[in-house]
Amino acid sequence: MRQEKRCVSCGLVLKQRGATSFPCPNCGEVTLGRCRRCRDQGVAYACPACGFRGP
Ligand SMILES: [Zn+2]
Ligand SMILES: [Zn+2]
Repeated sequence: MRQEKRCVSCGLVLKQRGATSFPCPNCGEVTLGRCRRCRDQGVAYACPACGFRGP
């Protein structure tokens, strides 16, 4: 099964340049994606697995 990476803040599919993804710094279980727009605006994210919130 193929998984599309999505921005955890706005739900946008990450296919454009400038998007980033990284494992959750708290639990490491989930890969969190962030689109360029949310990165630029410093939108907060929350890990869907452990609820960790970060800038
Ligand atoms: Zn976003
Ligand atoms: Zn987590």
